[in-house]
Amino acid sequence: MSITTEQAAAWFAERAKNIPIPETKAMFKIAADALKKRTPTMVTHEATKYACYTCPSCKNVVDETTEFIPGQKIRVQQQWCKYCGQALKWED
Ligand SMILES: [Zn+2]
Repeated sequence: MSITTEQAAAWFAERAKNIPIPETKAMFKIAADALKKRTPTMVTHEATKYACYTCPSCKNVVDETTEFIPGQKIRVQQQWCKYCGQALKWED
């Protein structure tokens, strides 16, 4: 049986709801949030005039372009958001 980080995040988040001890509840929430960040999540495509991709967690712009060959811009798809650490997914 294999458990995904997404399932583990949901497990911790669900358990956190019923824990009466504030410190323990906070620890479960931290674990759930950390696991959510490790789960590759689809970037969002904002319909701005720049048509950029943003992080699903912190909403910062995550796509960058680079020019290996002068005049030829290439979009770089980062694996992680450099602002919050969210694992990113670019395609289904
Ligand atoms: Zn982010």
